[in-house]
Amino acid sequence: MPRSIPHADLRALPSVDDVLQREAARKWLEFLPRETVTGLVRAAIGRQRSSIIAGGGGETNPLHAVEGDIAKSVNRLLRSTPRRVINASGVILHTNLGRAPLSARALRAISETAGKYCSLEYDIEQGKRGKRDAHCGELLETLLGRPAIAVNNNAAAIFLVLNELARDGHVIVSRGELVEIGDGFRIPDILGASQASLTEVGATNRTHLEDYRSAIGPRTKALLRIHTSNFRMVGFTGRPALAELAELARAASIPLVEDLGSGCMADLSPSGIVEEPLVTDSLEAGVNVVTFSGDKLLGGPQAGIIAGDADLVARFRRNPLFRALRVGKLTLAALNATLIDILTGNESGIPALRLARLSRDDLNVRAARFANRLTANAEFDADVVDGESVLGGGSTPMQCLPTALVALSPTAALSARDVERNLRASDPPVIVRIEKDRVLLDLRTVFETEEDDLFAALCSAAGKR
Ligand SMILES: *Cc1c(COP(=O)(O)O)cnc(C)c1O
Repeated sequence: MPRSIPHADLRALPSVDDVLQREAARKWLEFLPRETVTGLVRAAIGRQRSSIIAGGGGETNPLHAVEGDIAKSVNRLLRSTPRRVINASGVILHTNLGRAPLSARALRAISETAGKYCSLEYDIEQGKRGKRDAHCGELLETLLGRPAIAVNNNAAAIFLVLNELARDGHVIVSRGELVEIGDGFRIPDILGASQASLTEVGATNRTHLEDYRSAIGPRTKALLRIHTSNFRMVGFTGRPALAELAELARAASIPLVEDLGSGCMADLSPSGIVEEPLVTDSLEAGVNVVTFSGDKLLGGPQAGIIAGDADLVARFRRNPLFRALRVGKLTLAALNATLIDILTGNESGIPALRLARLSRDDLNVRAARFANRLTANAEFDADVVDGESVLGGGSTPMQCLPTALVALSPTAALSARDVERNLRASDPPVIVRIEKDRVLLDLRTVFETEEDDLFAALCSAAGKR
């Protein structure tokens, strides 16, 4: 039986003009164009109408409901976003939380360059048009020993490299490396988009040098190696050493390309991370082209770096896609500054690297102090437990960093879910982990200057039922 439409409720809805006459609308009109406000009013009335028709019934005060709805839209539109959040999850390179926080030098470089004019494509010495990729080229070459260019991100880097080298040809990839990086991003899809065909070799767990050798044919344009950064296969596994693969590629006059993912440029062994290959290791092993992200272990802005043989890098630069995938001045300023931090050994100035190096003992002191503050001041049952932080961003899946966690046990009034939800609703929002109905706070990824904000958010989260 079709439900009858509640005409009385529909008739009770205000008209656009009714709403525009109100005090609230006059306030919105002071800072928003009339068409925008009218559009918001229409949309809000439309939502009430749909909800009535869908059987939701009318509001007791439809005018107030419509006004409340518009106020929410106005707040959303005028709030700057992406918003700062406090990351208490312990995931250092959290893709959903913007990956690497920038260094002070990178932030200074952005603010000095972006609010004024800058030498983005201007050669100041020559007084004429310059090249945008000159800004990071020399630093990258100094650090990596090979020419390099930067594009929008690592996915763009792989796309450009494959399009240039293997368009209308074949690329050989091991079945053990056909990975999905995240959010549906899969290597075979990138290959397809770059108009290269995939030749899969080997088995999921093992690929031999011979598998690559026998797959090489007249249409093979590249060998592709992928750093399987976000998972590990254990047990009966194996793949050729990079140097062996490089030797095979050289003998066949086919370039060997490696997608390194994280692109580690600094030694992470002080933080106990030994599994992450250095970019220079790959180049020294004979890889012709490497690609990696700017905002993973490099600790800089979103970017994709392509480094390798001079003739190949020159080809990537000439490919029309390079223009389409190019980076802007904000990125170049931040990347250049981050590379200076790396070159001058100021790795503790790069937040991602500094956070990775915090020891469990350092964190234990902070966690104990914070837990005491909580138990003294708020309605929490907090203690300190051992745990693990993770690098994230698809790096070193098996290697975790020992940390000390502040663990909040549920109280009679509040479950862990309630606290987690209230923390997300605070300003700035706080992102935490939940395990076994306890809220876990990892101070490794909370900057010391954020501890008061975190404390305030927790106190108010406990107050809200
Ligand atoms: C993260 C990652 C990518 C994607 O890099 P973006 O900079 O996010 O585009 C590609 N390959 C590997 C192996 C990765 O780890």
